This record gives sequence, C-alpha cells and structure tokens, in this order.
Amino acid sequence: MSVDLHNHTILCKHATGTLEEYVEKAIEKNIDFFGFSDHAPMNYAQDYRMKFEQMNQYEKSILDLRKVYQNRIHVLLGYEVDFLVGFMDDRVINANVDYLIGSVHFVNKWGFDNPKYIGEYKNKNIDKIWEDYFEELENLAKSGLFNIVGHIDLIKVFNYLPKKDIKLLALKAIKEIKKANMAVEINAAGFRKPIKEAYPSKSIMELLSEYDIPITFGSDSHAPHEVGLNKDKIHSLASHYGYSKCANFIKKERFMVEF
Ligand SMILES: [Zn+2]
Ligand SMILES: [Zn+2]
Repeated sequence: MSVDLHNHTILCKHATGTLEEYVEKAIEKNIDFFGFSDHAPMNYAQDYRMKFEQMNQYEKSILDLRKVYQNRIHVLLGYEVDFLVGFMDDRVINANVDYLIGSVHFVNKWGFDNPKYIGEYKNKNIDKIWEDYFEELENLAKSGLFNIVGHIDLIKVFNYLPKKDIKLLALKAIKEIKKANMAVEINAAGFRKPIKEAYPSKSIMELLSEYDIPITFGSDSHAPHEVGLNKDKIHSLASHYGYSKCANFIKKERFMVEF
C-alpha cells in the first residue's frame, strides 16, 4: 500500500494544477491513499494560504472528488496548519477532516523557509536558530492539536546546518512527539530544495526508530508532477530504519498500513 498525505492545491496561491491532475498523477504513481492537506487559513502571511471563506469550497471539492474516484483511489482530506501561537483558529483545528499536519514555518515570526527572507540566516547564530526551531516543534507537540508532524527538520532547507549535534538539538521535541502519540511524515520535498535529501535526515530517522514513533509519507507537492516524486527513496529510507508500516488517518483515527 502506498500513502501520500501531504499535497497542496491552487488555493494556497503558490501551487499549480487542478485537483483532478493531482489525483490522476497519484493513480499513475500507484498511490492507494492520497490526501490533500493545503495550507490552512490564518491571519498571518496570508499570501501563502487560502482564506477562511474558502474552507467550505476546499473541503467540498475534495469530498466530491473522493466520490468520483472512489473505485480507483482513496482521496483523503486534511490541512497543513502552521504552528504559530496566537494565530491558530478553531475553525481549522475543529474542521471535520481526516487529519491535521502541524508544521513549523516560523521561528519568532520569521518565515525561515521562504527564499525571500533567506538573508536572515546571516544575521543570526545558526545553533540558536536550530534551538529555537526545535523549541517551537516541542511546543507544537505539547499543543496536542495535530495528528502528524510536517517536515520535521525543515530548518535545514537551505543547507545552513548547525555546529551542535542535530540529535541533541532534536531530542526534547522527539520525546514530546512520542508523548503526544503523533506520527512524523517522511517528506520528499527536501529532494527538490538546496538540502537535496528527505525530511527527516538520517540522524533524526535514528531517533524516530529508537523511540518507536510511527511514520507516514508525503510528497508536499505544489504541482501535479511533484506527486509521488522520489517516492521510492522515502520508502527505502523508512525501510532502512526498520519501518514496514506507515500511519494513515480517517476522521482523525490512526491505522497502520504496510507499504
Ligand atoms: Zn506551500
Ligand atoms: Zn510545509
């Protein structure tokens, strides 16, 4: 079975293609469970997400698509939600969806994965940036709001790596993720970025497997051709660390499937 829970739509204003094109590509790539998890609305960085008024349209169009494709593929409905204290909204948190991916895209309100703000890396201490990032992730887990951790080490995106040991930097967050009973996605988008590897890195994969934290998979596609890209690589990364099952969600109930 093949599961891919992290995919975007044009509503976020930085993706292309129709919903049907995404689903058709997923079928071509032999994906069995294909989930849309577009950037949820929030009153912050609104150029990169849908509006609150578009939630109904988003949810309905995906549920309609689920029916159209029900004999060929399971279409799932989710959101990718920014963990940003003071900006998360009950309309999103309580939405009637299959799962919520919680992601850290902001450290002290700095959109660190946006090429537009890349200059900030040079103004800051790299170890401090990584510490702050993982502290946010720890808080994300403690919030108990999400089913899946999105791209767990996104902070490496531009290849600015810490001097400190990544396992030590990530450890407290990993322990909280375990406590919160969340799954962590293995996200293929890193292969398309300067870091040129999956999220998470090998050192974090070691921690996940040591703490027996369930994994799932996501393309993080923002265009149809990105669906299923490097799927074999993320599957073999997981297998290498002893995983043979991945997490899947229907109505926020987790079940495990062999991949
Ligand atoms: Zn995006
Ligand atoms: Zn993201």
